[in-house]
Amino acid sequence: MSETQPNQNTPKLFPHQTPTPSSGSEDQQKDEGMTKLPNGVILDKDGKPCRLCTSAASWRNLTKQAKTQTAATSTATAAKPAAADSTPRPRDDCPPDVEALGRSTWTFLHSLTASYPAKASQEQQGEMRTFLKIFSRLYPCWVCADDFRTWMAEPSGRNEPRLAGRSDFGTWMCEAHNEVNRKLGKKEFDCRFWEERWRTGWKDGRCD
Ligand SMILES: Cc1cc2nc3c(=O)[nH]c(=O)nc-3n(C[C@H](O)[C@H](O)[C@H](O)COP(=O)(O)OP(=O)(O)OC[C@H]3O[C@@H](n4cnc5c(N)ncnc54)[C@H](O)[C@@H]3O)c2cc1C
Repeated sequence: MSETQPNQNTPKLFPHQTPTPSSGSEDQQKDEGMTKLPNGVILDKDGKPCRLCTSAASWRNLTKQAKTQTAATSTATAAKPAAADSTPRPRDDCPPDVEALGRSTWTFLHSLTASYPAKASQEQQGEMRTFLKIFSRLYPCWVCADDFRTWMAEPSGRNEPRLAGRSDFGTWMCEAHNEVNRKLGKKEFDCRFWEERWRTGWKDGRCD
């Protein structure tokens, strides 16, 4: 990771356009116009909060914090902020968070393996290798992309894309997904079943 890139361990501080007075609560510590970000908010490479790298819950905390601070600075119109809504309101017409983006992308990536030829030509393998290289640079959650690229480039070469045919590629993608599952503390998927999940449907007929 380059030195210009913030990471999850850097202090989560960002400058506010309208610095708040010094009467904030403990979890809104101020430091010369800087405010501590809520846990889980990831910064973009330009130092601004990265919505596509952050969970919806953390993003809501951030916007709630910003609203509270805006209300605190408004002395003339001291309207009370609306009561905090503790229940998440999943919507499908808002920009995605890191999870929605991830779910859609895995659907795309596994479907890509499902439609890959049983035996791929050199040209098809080359195109897919190029796609994965570019994908791993352009994926909009930059921390996710960095880790994915690092995993693929593991020095032993064991994580390099296996592109000879659908079976190899599907299993490789499943392993890549499991790497992220492990990182996030999620259950691993049994890769023997990747094809039933993403191509043929389950043998019990529930997808027919
Ligand atoms: C390349 C990439 C990197 C990511 N890195 C991060 C990250 O660093 N931090 C972060 O917070 N999020 C990351 N994400 C998002 C994360 O992986 C999940 O998509 C997100 O947390 C939502 O998870 P989910 O539990 O809804 O299911 P998802 O993990 O999105 O899985 C969707 C469905 O795929 C199936 N599935 C699960 N595992 C496998 C598997 N191994 N093989 C085949 N099918 C499977 C299951 O049926 C599951 O319901 C990344 C996503 C991608 C595409």
